[in-house]
Amino acid sequence: MTAKVAINGYGTIGKRVADAIRAQDDMEVVGVTKTRPTFEARMAISKGFSLYVASEDNVAAFKKAGIEVSGTLQELLEESDLVIDGTPKGSGYKEAYAKAGVKAIWQGGEKHELTNFSFNSQANYEAALGIDQLRVPSCNTTGLIRTLYPLHVAFGLEEVLAVMVRRAADPWDTRRGPINAIEPVLKMPSHHGPDVQSVLTDLNIQTIAVKVPTTIMHLHTVTARMRQPATVQEVLEVWRKSPRIKLVRGADGIASTAQVMEMARDLGRPRSDLFEIVVWEDGVNVEGSSLYYFQAVHQEADVVPENVDAIRAMMELERSKRESIRKTDLSLGIPSPF
Ligand code: NAD
Repeated sequence: MTAKVAINGYGTIGKRVADAIRAQDDMEVVGVTKTRPTFEARMAISKGFSLYVASEDNVAAFKKAGIEVSGTLQELLEESDLVIDGTPKGSGYKEAYAKAGVKAIWQGGEKHELTNFSFNSQANYEAALGIDQLRVPSCNTTGLIRTLYPLHVAFGLEEVLAVMVRRAADPWDTRRGPINAIEPVLKMPSHHGPDVQSVLTDLNIQTIAVKVPTTIMHLHTVTARMRQPATVQEVLEVWRKSPRIKLVRGADGIASTAQVMEMARDLGRPRSDLFEIVVWEDGVNVEGSSLYYFQAVHQEADVVPENVDAIRAMMELERSKRESIRKTDLSLGIPSPF
């Protein structure tokens, strides 16, 4: 069976998920939607995706720009089994998807309560088998779950504190800031802690966030108290056996997010996307039962493989999480421990 997938909102996340779906042999993109006739709309067509408009109201603008569309979102949904919602948070398509009888995956801008199921490939793939709606949590939340879940399974985590130094905006986005300030997120804990708990319900985690003037990555500093104390080598071994975690070394000249992204460019993947969470091997420290580490998150990319696995689980294309993760990673050029 091949799952027929619609992408509603061909933006930062939507266009990446569309390309990732195209790299699979058990799913296909039926079409993508845009609201405005931007360069991304033209790019979608030049890549061979069928372009639809989100609503009838958008048709005139596309006509004026000389861009031909295949129809409206409603028509696209009629041909699809599942929709990836890549629209800005709160766009409000839940009813439309239910009416069209398609399964739906939302992104991290939405609250857990929208679907009551927040997905992570490692943590709860099996629980998503056959379900109709879920949310892939945000880039930061996915990043935290990637490294904390395997540690929690291996050693048991008593308590976690993560301080997130967040990118101000995506590289293309000239609307947001700050551009010359450091902005503490005064709400404490930040929403990321409860968001991690929407997947790892028994994890005692607090999070603090600060926004800084950078666009390329987020950086997290994580402190965790382990129930079963482990050495640095044992911690690293757990991560080596876990998917989508990339260990790097400051000693190799990767001393900042700038060098991480330079390495990502050298990997030669489309858009220089870094799907893995990067952990500095020589920045990991254990003192007694306390573990300290730094990790970096390429916010535009880390949730992409999770979206692919989520489609596979919801459409029951593959029952084994290991097999789905292996398949997704192989197709995206991510080295897999499975
Ligand atoms: P984006 O602004 O880059 O893209 C949104 C797309 O939706 C655009 O193509 C836009 O034209 C389209 N759109 C806007 N309004 C629409 C509407 N009413 N109907 C249909 N399409 C509409 O946004 P993004 O960064 O891709 O974010 C999408 C979701 O992914 C959000 O929930 C966001 O929180 C989440 N997310 C973003 C990032 C990131 O770093 N950018 C990371 C992880 C998760």
